[in-house]
Amino acid sequence: MYYKFKDGVKRDITIGKIVCLARSYKKHAQEMNSDVPKEPVIFLKPASSVIFNGDKINIPKMSNCLHHEVELGIIIGKRCKLVNKKDALNFVLGYLIGLDITARDIQSDFKKKGWPWTIAKSFDTFAPISDVVLKELVSDPQNLDISLKVNGKLKQDSNTSFMIFSIEEIIEFISKVMTLEPGDLILTGTPEGVDEIKKGDILEAKLGNICSLKVFVD
Ligand code: MG
Repeated sequence: MYYKFKDGVKRDITIGKIVCLARSYKKHAQEMNSDVPKEPVIFLKPASSVIFNGDKINIPKMSNCLHHEVELGIIIGKRCKLVNKKDALNFVLGYLIGLDITARDIQSDFKKKGWPWTIAKSFDTFAPISDVVLKELVSDPQNLDISLKVNGKLKQDSNTSFMIFSIEEIIEFISKVMTLEPGDLILTGTPEGVDEIKKGDILEAKLGNICSLKVFVD
């Protein structure tokens, strides 16, 4: 599966691994009764969960409670490993707005049991993403309004300046663990306001004035 670009140019960049952050905005950590971490908390989501603008999120039979999490996405443009934060932005291709759809009931149950919560994050359609905006067109990715409306009602409304770790720090940290390759996507975690979504809902996400995403719940 390839990314789509806002400028309409076809670049044939395959969507690679998706590295997600948990608890990366203080107020969201608080609403989840979680500690604010000293280092990024990361997990993976499969590329097979990606859908695009206009597509539908499917509610899996295994869950009775899906939550929306609106997130800034970073697309990696060049291979990097053990990158220093001062060089980190050199490896970025662009940005997008994405949703980290979560089966909250499964996640809560698995957290209690001490099991990995992979299943809760990995169903098909659980990673809706917008078109990609090239980084040259984004003057300050660390100061973008980020919002989500459900059926026209504002549910999440924050700014990327409230992220606990900067984009540079996130790339530095992840690249200590795993090589980041062109086409990999980092979903940088959600601000406060996560809530349940139901069949028939319309989700509209926005990142500053640079990109937007509209998907439906089926
Ligand atoms: Mg998330």
